[in-house]
Amino acid sequence: MLQEQEAHAAELERTFIAIKPDGVQRGLISEIISRFERKGFKLVAIKITVPSKDIAQKHYHDLKTRPFFDGLCDFLSSGPVIAMVWEGEGVIKYGRKLIGATDPQKSEPGTIRGDLAVAIGGNIIHGSDGPETAKDEINLWFKPEELVNYTSNAEKWIYGVN
Ligand code: GDP
Ligand code: MG
Repeated sequence: MLQEQEAHAAELERTFIAIKPDGVQRGLISEIISRFERKGFKLVAIKITVPSKDIAQKHYHDLKTRPFFDGLCDFLSSGPVIAMVWEGEGVIKYGRKLIGATDPQKSEPGTIRGDLAVAIGGNIIHGSDGPETAKDEINLWFKPEELVNYTSNAEKWIYGVN
């Protein structure tokens, strides 16, 4: 029973992932989604949206003292963004690994930014950096009813017997 509860709790870990306007304009939506999907993570919410400046400022509130904050918020709200919630064991931390370092010049090959981006101002994707920010960002971008709970038939194969 305890094991079942633990497995369930792990399964329900969720993170907020966004393909920023540069990733959308460059035609990288399916490439990025496929990396999360093929890994075995589960998509539980997705929409295309042009975020308001207010949403952008709330999303990046921890950077508000940085000189690039205003330009960054203008950029995020300048065009369509793909907002997503992905679920799976360890998805917050591993999602950041799939994404790679903030500066694409420092991202390892094999990561999304390492393979697909060159400059920090064009790093194409956002991913929550911890459990608290994941919760806040999911709540900022999605209404609770936009999150879909479902069992994927692949889960028993992805998580195995242990
Ligand atoms: P992330 O979590 O890896 O996206 O990085 P941060 O939370 O530190 O920064 C958020 C976003 O701000 C980054 O993805 C970049 O788009 C942008 N950013 C961060 N640092 C810089 C910088 O030094 N210069 C510029 N122009 N943009 C930056
Ligand atoms: Mg960040």
